[in-house]
Amino acid sequence: MQAVFDGHNDVLLRLWQHSRSGGDPIAEFVEGTDKGHIDAPRARIGGLAGGLSAIYIPSGDLVLKTPDESGHYATPLSAPLDRLPSLATAMELADIAIRLDSAGAWRLCRSTAEIRSAISDGVFASVLHMEGCEAIGPDLSALETFYAAGLRSLGPVWSRHNVFGHGVPFAYPMSPDTGPGLTEAGFELVRACNRLGILIDLAHSTEQGFWDVAKTTDQPLVASHSNAHALTPVARNLTDRQLDAVREGRGLVGLNYATTMLRPDGQENATTPLSDMVRHVDYMVERMGIDCVALGSDFDGATIPEEIGDAAGNQKLVAALKDAGYGDAELAKICRENWLRVLGQAWHEAA
Ligand SMILES: [Zn+2]
Repeated sequence: MQAVFDGHNDVLLRLWQHSRSGGDPIAEFVEGTDKGHIDAPRARIGGLAGGLSAIYIPSGDLVLKTPDESGHYATPLSAPLDRLPSLATAMELADIAIRLDSAGAWRLCRSTAEIRSAISDGVFASVLHMEGCEAIGPDLSALETFYAAGLRSLGPVWSRHNVFGHGVPFAYPMSPDTGPGLTEAGFELVRACNRLGILIDLAHSTEQGFWDVAKTTDQPLVASHSNAHALTPVARNLTDRQLDAVREGRGLVGLNYATTMLRPDGQENATTPLSDMVRHVDYMVERMGIDCVALGSDFDGATIPEEIGDAAGNQKLVAALKDAGYGDAELAKICRENWLRVLGQAWHEAA
């Protein structure tokens, strides 16, 4: 079995929602459930050894648009969020992450050495990520607090506008070039992340935002959960030009399991075959090389192929890649080593 370190999950959101309805988020993760995609028992079965776990502030007004007769759709961007309620929610999600760590249910990792030792101890290696920085002030207040709490990765924007920049809508077919990029505060945030050693994630960014980060950052370019626009032309996927820029800096793109981002028709449809996932991996490997492709499931955040089902089915993708001709050394890179390399660089670890 290939241990997988995965670039994006929303398990904290699911556990937070569980706690809001009176449940115990720690027990839910430790004991397991049939809801959603990730908990400790299912992660163990599927060799999901760890990943980036998002602090994400849900948008109450997000309703995915039904496709028209030609299969096209364009969900409007969610409304911007107010800062203080976002900060309160972000604190609650971070709190669950820390309590999971204290309980030994998972380990919050701040270095690649910690990730490797959690994996070898069989404990889920979690890296705290922030998906859209509505909880952080335009003067970057609260950034250092979240850093002290373990935050080691962030995407300045989710698919909505905020003080740092602009996100792309969920739309098919659509170019990612949907508007402006970073604001002045956004550029400051990127510089602060470079200084502190926080990975900057380009998933959900407009194409302009992508280039704004590219010209500012000293890190490899990373889109934690995105696919190839040439195969599935949704605004969330990356164009060939963007993939080429990722390759130049030896960054990476994590394969998103969301069916809307895998299927040629961009539809939400759980019957999507594993071959659609393999096709995106093949395309990105061809374009960028084996060092720049990884996994970014979006477990607990999207409709994924039913053949995978949840974290327990994660090795089915690995098996499909093996059948497609990837050898063990290549699979090790896709499954974890590429992620560990770019995280080590963003975190200023000696090579
Ligand atoms: Zn996302």
